[in-house]
Amino acid sequence: MKTKPPVSPRDLRQRAEKMLRESGSLPPEASSPEEIQLLLHELRVHQIQLEMQNEELRHAHTDLDASQARYFDLYDLAPVGYLTLSKTGLIQEANFAAATMFGLSREQLIHLPIRQFICKDDQDLFYLFHQQVIRSNEPQKSELRLQRADGSFFWAHIGATPATGGEYWMTLSDISERIHAEEVLRMSREKYKAIVDNSFDVIFALTAKGEFQFLSRAWERHFGYAIGEVLGKSSRHFIHPDDLDPWTVYLQGILLSGVSMTSPPFRVKHSDGSWRGFIANGARYTNTDNERLFIGVAHDMTVQREAEQKLFEAKAAAETANSAKSRFLSTMSHEIRTPMNGVIGMLQLLQYTELTPEQQEYIESAENAGLELVHILNDILDIAKIEAGKIELERYDFDLRQVIAETINHQALLAREKGVELAVSINGDVPSALKGDPLRVRQIIRNLVHNAIKFTPKGTVTLHVRKNDENEQSYTLRFLVQDSGIGIAAEKLAHIFEPFTQADGSTTRTYGGSGLGLTISKRLAELMGGSIGVESVEGKGSTFWFTVVLEKGDIIPVAPELTIERGVMKSSTPIRILLAEDDPKAQLIVPKLLKNHGYQADVAVDGNAVLQALAAEDYALVLMDCMMPGMSGYEATAVIRDPDSAVRRHDIPVIALTGNAMKQDIEHCLAAGMDDHLPKPLIIDDLLAKLEKWLAGGSR
Ligand code: ADP
Repeated sequence: MKTKPPVSPRDLRQRAEKMLRESGSLPPEASSPEEIQLLLHELRVHQIQLEMQNEELRHAHTDLDASQARYFDLYDLAPVGYLTLSKTGLIQEANFAAATMFGLSREQLIHLPIRQFICKDDQDLFYLFHQQVIRSNEPQKSELRLQRADGSFFWAHIGATPATGGEYWMTLSDISERIHAEEVLRMSREKYKAIVDNSFDVIFALTAKGEFQFLSRAWERHFGYAIGEVLGKSSRHFIHPDDLDPWTVYLQGILLSGVSMTSPPFRVKHSDGSWRGFIANGARYTNTDNERLFIGVAHDMTVQREAEQKLFEAKAAAETANSAKSRFLSTMSHEIRTPMNGVIGMLQLLQYTELTPEQQEYIESAENAGLELVHILNDILDIAKIEAGKIELERYDFDLRQVIAETINHQALLAREKGVELAVSINGDVPSALKGDPLRVRQIIRNLVHNAIKFTPKGTVTLHVRKNDENEQSYTLRFLVQDSGIGIAAEKLAHIFEPFTQADGSTTRTYGGSGLGLTISKRLAELMGGSIGVESVEGKGSTFWFTVVLEKGDIIPVAPELTIERGVMKSSTPIRILLAEDDPKAQLIVPKLLKNHGYQADVAVDGNAVLQALAAEDYALVLMDCMMPGMSGYEATAVIRDPDSAVRRHDIPVIALTGNAMKQDIEHCLAAGMDDHLPKPLIIDDLLAKLEKWLAGGSR
């Protein structure tokens, strides 16, 4: 403010006189000089007072200006939107924040109705709010959705304060973030509630005193109590008395250590009085009131135990059914094999009578068909045994080259008939003296060579034998059977060793077979510590191979001179054996068959006859029927083994002839002192193999 120049005393006096005269306080003419002096003094005081008032006013103005500027700054720059609205809801004034919220300038907002910025769905709500403000003349607040100029929405908190003349001020705050956070929280709560409500396991919370503070719905399902009647009660009420101590130790352990742990199994009482087995997994949790809680998930073991029990029973039932199936299979194949062997035996005998070439041919094919059937029956028996895990391997000394020669000789005939060349090559380092189960080794070679010939219309089949490995006790040998036959499609190769699998469904009709040979071969090779495999190209041929681990054998005692002629073994001097048999048909057939293979078999009709014969003559071996009238085979064997009995050789090999080859029958024979067994009726090949084994000094 501009400062005034000082006033001279003369001027002052003249102005004062003029004022006083005009106001009538002074006579038109000046009074005495004293009076004038007094007047002047009063005037001066008056003037000073006026100037002081002036100064105060000036200060007040300055303060007002500053506060007004501050107010405008606050109004404009506040983060909250401010609007001044008319009684009818028209915008009179808006701050910068309000304009920004709506996406317009402050000028553009003026005179627009606020309703234009309210979301359609919230128009009714706003109408009520507006009415309330106008009518009540009191501050109001609400939350609703506002619409920006570009059409987008945002959540806002609005507050209204009535002003004079029906106007009101409105504050606006964008609360979208808070609403979004609340929504996320709500959804997350709902999600967890759904999880907890639908959990199969019981989720629960206990106070530090062990009282239920929370229980999920699964509690009602598992225990039959309403949740309401349990909350607040101690968990100890529901736990089996014998489990209380471990339960308390478990709870306290978690509450004190804060380490999450799984409980031991414990029993909880059902509302029906029964006990249900549970385990829990628990952890410590501190709530907003700083209380320590136990949070647990309890898993019902009863259901699991029941399921396990059912599974166990189902498994036992399946095993029973399976062993019943195996028993049925072996009984059935045995029953079929019995008459079949009778037929084959007769056909074989017929071949030693006078026959026309035509008759000879018919009989041979009938015999071959019969042998094939017996072979299939044997495969089925083997599979039944393998499935029941009942295959047991023999372990005795044998000559590998002799086993190979026999096997190849048996197959040579088939190869010759088909015009297929059959060759064998055995590496020089492959040993001959081995210990193991030669019949099973022979079975695998036989299966592979037989298949190779069967599936090779023309060409060559070769068996190679190599030594793969050797250690102190055993050799690993590798057998390869190569053919130039039809081969196997690549996609079938992977399944070829599975039971009842044939590369092509039509092969059965063309080539015969049951699809069991390779499965049996695989299991046998594995049982002998080896494996089996194949490489094949369709149309070009296949190479099947297998390995087996066989113990190093002792030198084999020289057997009675044996020569192999077209697969038939012959002995130069007849070997005497005793056949104990009460069946007249067998008494007739068996000695005749054996005679063709260099054995002389005498017949004893019962146990007593056996003992008499053994006391009177030297025999190399006894074939002992177990069930004979009078003295049975078991009793006779006991006498043979008795060192005080009259028989000449108490250690003579005794081979039982059993009607049934079940395990207990075999065990019974062995317990009676017999060395081995053969199922009846006899298959000549099996009989010859056993004779060969025992006459070569075999052991059990
Ligand atoms: P099968 O009694 O049917 O011969 P296997 O188990 O011995 O049963 O053989 C299964 C299938 O494998 C045969 O049916 C055949 O399709 C195939 N197979 C086996 N060996 C050969 C081979 N050397 N050449 C071609 N296919 C073969």
